[in-house]
Amino acid sequence: MKVLIRGAGVAGLTLAHELATRGASVTVVDIRRQIAGNASWQAGGMLAPWCERESAEETVLSLGRGAADWWSAALPGHVMRNGTLVVAPARDAGELDRFGRRTSGYRAIDAEAIAALEPDLEGSFTRALFFAEEAHLDPRRVLLELQQKLVEMGVRFEFGYGAVHSRSADVEADCTGITGRLTGLRGVRGEMLILKTSEVALARPVRLLHPRIPVYVVPRSGNLFMVGATMIESDAAGPITARSVLELLNAAYALHPAFGEAELVETGTGIRPAFADNLPRVERDGNTIRINGLYRHGFLLAPEMARQATDMILGHKTKKELAHEAHR
Ligand SMILES: Cc1cc2nc3c(=O)[nH]c(=O)nc-3n(C[C@H](O)[C@H](O)[C@H](O)COP(=O)(O)OP(=O)(O)OC[C@H]3O[C@@H](n4cnc5c(N)ncnc54)[C@H](O)[C@@H]3O)c2cc1C
Repeated sequence: MKVLIRGAGVAGLTLAHELATRGASVTVVDIRRQIAGNASWQAGGMLAPWCERESAEETVLSLGRGAADWWSAALPGHVMRNGTLVVAPARDAGELDRFGRRTSGYRAIDAEAIAALEPDLEGSFTRALFFAEEAHLDPRRVLLELQQKLVEMGVRFEFGYGAVHSRSADVEADCTGITGRLTGLRGVRGEMLILKTSEVALARPVRLLHPRIPVYVVPRSGNLFMVGATMIESDAAGPITARSVLELLNAAYALHPAFGEAELVETGTGIRPAFADNLPRVERDGNTIRINGLYRHGFLLAPEMARQATDMILGHKTKKELAHEAHR
């Protein structure tokens, strides 16, 4: 079975992994010159199904709870299973109760427990919610490593405008994100920035609740912190606005004043592809399969979407049957 995947974001790469693992012959093409700059590249990398459940359907929790295991198995050593900490400034403490009422999978903790988990936040917050089962990864490292692994598994990659012209395959998989322009698909603009400082250490993503703009800070190696993200109903991919920089920096500063002295090393914008119900879809239309609508849950939900799409494409054929087809 020869499969052509259009799009090397998290949807396309996880699908390539599932298909190649089950013996299909896979080619991935992307209109970009490299794996960088798409929505997946800009993501926070949180695998946080219980936190997301606060504003999402139960489906997101049920489809996403196996994601950390999928990523750990595919790329050992990349998933950090340190949980998520959710805090609120004293004046917005009611937000913490509201958040807690809308989800599960956490325990309410006090100032002492906060300090034990995150010593650098000692004395800053009196209460928090701790989601111990959640995890995170560095999307950029993961995308690059996954591509490398796929190459070693025999998956072919082609980049640039010249690569996307149609070619022969038994099945095509459209994983083109917002560019797919499917009926009903809309863009939700997410702006983020990356700060660098050695004055703050965090072991896990910290979400700071605020009635207007809830923000999170995700620690990465090299003293880097991803601060995200805006949620704007727009597919305009232009540079981050001054207002968004102000709001994201204010939130980071509210979390820890040392972020005020951090280097602002990068700002970015990604367009999340979303359907009206904010749930992802795997669809079949003749010989074309589509995975789209991953919204704010690409790393969380792509593994399960890839599994579903692979079942649609390959059915339940054995690896030997697939190998035979690939060489016919
Ligand atoms: C700021 C921000 C933070 C986020 N944080 C998280 C998070 O913490 N956890 C989480 O799970 N999710 C998060 N998300 C959501 C996640 O990033 C998206 O759901 C996901 O990236 C969508 O992946 P995709 O592969 O569908 O699209 P993309 O990543 O956009 O990939 C689509 C690819 O298709 C290519 N393409 C387009 N047209 C063509 C064509 N004609 N031929 C070939 N290739 C084409 C594009 O170049 C692109 O590389 C975040 C998103 C943003 C913006």
